Amino acid sequence: MPVEKLEFQAETKRLLDLVINSIYTNKEIFLRELISNASDALDKLRIESLTNKELLGDNEDFEIFIVPDEKTKTITISDNGIGMTREEVINNIGTIAKSGTKDFLEKIRESSNAAAQELIGQFGVGFYSAFIVADKVELITRKTGTDSAVKWTSDGAGEYELEDFNKDSRGTTIILHLKKEFTGDDEYNFTDVYEIERLIKKYSDFVRYPIKMNFEVKGKEGDEPKIEIRTVNSMKPLWTRSKSEITREEYDEFFKQQLHEWESPLEIFHIKAEGTFEYTALVCIPKHAAQNLYYSDYEAGLQLYSRHVFIMDKCKDFLPDWLRFMKGLVDSPDLPLNISREVLQQSREVKVIGKALEKSILKQLGKLLKDEREKYEEFWTQFGKSLKIGVYNSMFDVKAKDSLKDLLLFQTSKDGKFYTLAEYVERMPDFQKKIYVAVGKDAAAIERLPQMELLRDRGLEVIYLTDPVDEFTIDVLHEYAEKEFQSITRENFELDDAESQKTKAEVEEIAKTREDLLKDVKEAIGGAVHEVRLTSRLKSSAVCLVTGENSPSLSMEKTFAAMNNPMFKAVQILELNPNHAVFNKLESLHAQDKNSQAFKNLCTTLYDLALLIEGVMPNNPADLANKVTDLLTK
Ligand code: ADP
Repeated sequence: MPVEKLEFQAETKRLLDLVINSIYTNKEIFLRELISNASDALDKLRIESLTNKELLGDNEDFEIFIVPDEKTKTITISDNGIGMTREEVINNIGTIAKSGTKDFLEKIRESSNAAAQELIGQFGVGFYSAFIVADKVELITRKTGTDSAVKWTSDGAGEYELEDFNKDSRGTTIILHLKKEFTGDDEYNFTDVYEIERLIKKYSDFVRYPIKMNFEVKGKEGDEPKIEIRTVNSMKPLWTRSKSEITREEYDEFFKQQLHEWESPLEIFHIKAEGTFEYTALVCIPKHAAQNLYYSDYEAGLQLYSRHVFIMDKCKDFLPDWLRFMKGLVDSPDLPLNISREVLQQSREVKVIGKALEKSILKQLGKLLKDEREKYEEFWTQFGKSLKIGVYNSMFDVKAKDSLKDLLLFQTSKDGKFYTLAEYVERMPDFQKKIYVAVGKDAAAIERLPQMELLRDRGLEVIYLTDPVDEFTIDVLHEYAEKEFQSITRENFELDDAESQKTKAEVEEIAKTREDLLKDVKEAIGGAVHEVRLTSRLKSSAVCLVTGENSPSLSMEKTFAAMNNPMFKAVQILELNPNHAVFNKLESLHAQDKNSQAFKNLCTTLYDLALLIEGVMPNNPADLANKVTDLLTK
């Protein structure tokens, strides 16, 4: 086949643009990325060869070979791993399949340089990092078990070339034609063997396959120097060493190498357990949530080792789905070496180890909350949603729920800070029997709720539920410390102090004599509300909308509608403030003529306004606008 010119997918192009116009300050990491890919390719082959030994032919060694070359100003990284077919090259190297790529690129465009760097760190560009240091990259690859190879060439500018190639053994070779500034004139010299040796030791020491290089060894005077092949990395698994001997830097470097992380983790848990089953887990909480963490293509799971031998990547069966953000590995001598994913799912060992590990992680999180509040809050901002989903998922599992409820944080009306439920309950005045919560799209929206005014006046604290999942979580928890949750926008909400009880009784008295009015207001609104009544919970606002005790809330209705599930309709109750001037107007219009357009217009306007306060669009916004402008000009 002749040389074929192909275009990068649009998003790849933009990503490449970013890489080339380098927002990376650390130029060295390209090597770690390419070595990681090589190591993954070796893993894939090793695992396939467990069931198909013939794949290896007479080449049973797995290795990575690196050749820096001063003369050609290149550095070549080769592996004898699984390799790629022509199609795989097109799909893997020319496209980016991750969801969230578009959003990610948008965000990058809008952010400052420093912020962009942090963002791209969370994304990881893998193979494309080659273009940080090279102005031309060649990739020659031959898939194991086939005899044709292909060569991919690109300068990263938007196109790449593909051509057939002769390669006499399996695997992938990547040749980087280094940009001038990386060949010794400036700060870096990636053509220098010792410089590269240093980088391998720094970034790739734990890679589990030998990384080999040629070293020149001087012989006796007058003799030609000899070439000696040496393995540069130690390959010793970090997690087998004792915790006290490992520095934080070593842990950080390990996660970057082993898990393709671009930044140091937020927190690391190194757990060694000897119980029914023996295992070591080295897991971390990343500093940032992955862009696609809640998308279906996010690949959760831990690496699996048995007696320090790698078995499988992304094993999902250890941790529950809501801990999907945890990264790391489990090594256990109790796991069989060649175990298939299907068998693994059924395995008792995995279940027992997984349960123990989950417990251990929760314990460590509790410790983090207690001892390092600031760090915990950093964790919470990134992954709090996952824990809340965890509560929701353990709807029928009281024990699981219990283990999570003390790890939850919420913002409250006290100040902008995060508090645990225990901290909230601790501050509750004696007369307050329930935990007050309010739903809204953000703190500002909740603070504007008419119901908030009275609570603020009384100095009562309200928990803000601003994430759609919050309300579900609270619903599932139902109570905390034997105190039920009470939404301030539900019909049954009332304050328990003496003063509130008194005003409530007064309003009930007024209501008795206004039954006709309330009935006619309801009729004028036309079926949208279940009930219209007077309230004592409002101060300066005229109206508010609450929902029936057992009905979904308005925001839940919205969430369900967004999921195309219109079954869940909130039972709406319109509440009027009898101490507001508008109420007097309503009364007088009603007295004049309850069938008048003026009365009807006021009723529907009040209802529409109550909807707007709740962040819900009225059915007919244009009609509302007309009525309001009418009123303004009167
Ligand atoms: P990632 O490694 O995060 O998937 P990369 O851009 O680094 O992203 O690589 C994309 C894909 O290209 C890999 O998932 C792998 O399938 C393939 N690939 C990259 N390098 C190699 C290699 N040395 N051998 C075989 N396949 C490779």
